[in-house]
Amino acid sequence: TLSAEASPLTFNHELNPNPASDLERESVLANPGFGLHFTDHMVAIDWDLGVGWHDARLQPYGPLQVDPASAVLHYGQEIFEGLKAYRHDDGSIWTFRPEKNAERLQRSARRLALPELPVDAFLESLKQIVRADKAWVPTDADGSLYLRPFMIANETFLGVRAAHRVAYYVIASPAGPYFSGGVKPVSIWLSTEYSRAGRGGTGAAKCGGNYAASLLPQEEAAANGCSQVLFLDAETGTHVDELGGMNVFFVMGDRLVTPATSGSILEGVTRDSILQLARDRGMTVEERDFTLEEWRDGVESGTISETFACGTAAVITPIAQVKGHDVLFGDADAPAGEVTLSLRQELTDIQHGRAEDRHGWLYRL
Ligand code: PMP
Repeated sequence: TLSAEASPLTFNHELNPNPASDLERESVLANPGFGLHFTDHMVAIDWDLGVGWHDARLQPYGPLQVDPASAVLHYGQEIFEGLKAYRHDDGSIWTFRPEKNAERLQRSARRLALPELPVDAFLESLKQIVRADKAWVPTDADGSLYLRPFMIANETFLGVRAAHRVAYYVIASPAGPYFSGGVKPVSIWLSTEYSRAGRGGTGAAKCGGNYAASLLPQEEAAANGCSQVLFLDAETGTHVDELGGMNVFFVMGDRLVTPATSGSILEGVTRDSILQLARDRGMTVEERDFTLEEWRDGVESGTISETFACGTAAVITPIAQVKGHDVLFGDADAPAGEVTLSLRQELTDIQHGRAEDRHGWLYRL
């Protein structure tokens, strides 16, 4: 017998009878911010043990009915993704390397004992929501529609085991340029008291629990005037892992260095793309262990000329300074570096259809 997973899902459509008016939508798009406003529709797909994925649908955006005993509310069995849709000059709408996100969602699912959503179903779910809500994709040069696929354990059961009932959703939120006022170098806060991920933990998965654990150090960062928190490896406390929501890179002459994906950091799609663009330019790329000491010494001696963070939301952000309880290096007023800015320009030009997509990274929605 064919399982539901083997046959392609067909999506039923229930259109929103009460979508935002053109005026309401235009006023949101004039100043969208980030993650504040949502489009008229959402995608939902259910999964049951023994049945597989079923009841794929596009439906009006709105609150979920979740039983108070739903497993996700108690044990945090949840994973998510984040990627963007871009409107090109001819009006067509594209996303960037979505199969990477589909595969990462599958890896996250395995770690959180959730079912894997087939890559085809993931890609189709993005098409469904973007086609229904294409008017929400910003037209301005740096705007995008942020897509947030996520999966929750939705079984009404308080026993501690992998849920037998799961739901997958996609919601979408228009995004302006992440940093108003252009690309501004930031200071980051070194967390020494808290770790993000240990050996054998969930650091390589994109699960809500990782972010819950990062909020307290993130508050400490904010209290110290920093926009992101920097985590070292949990075992030795000497190696650089990543930031709360971004990977980190070091420019050393014609070398570009980033911490290796050792199982405790998230394998960023932006990270992978930057490594490729740097190789294309003839830079030597190194994925390896990188200590805080090497960072500080490199900044002080000048062998590290630029440091930057990267991720889908903010693309590439220069790091000017590292601050911590016993650490302070870098110059908070340093301007963004040349390599940082040109990689950022190249990547955003590809995403927005302003430069040749020589690696076939764009996917039409
Ligand atoms: N690390 C963490 C912890 C993140 O949350 C993100 C954002 N998804 C990244 C790195 C960057 O990943 P990506 O480039 O795929 O957005």
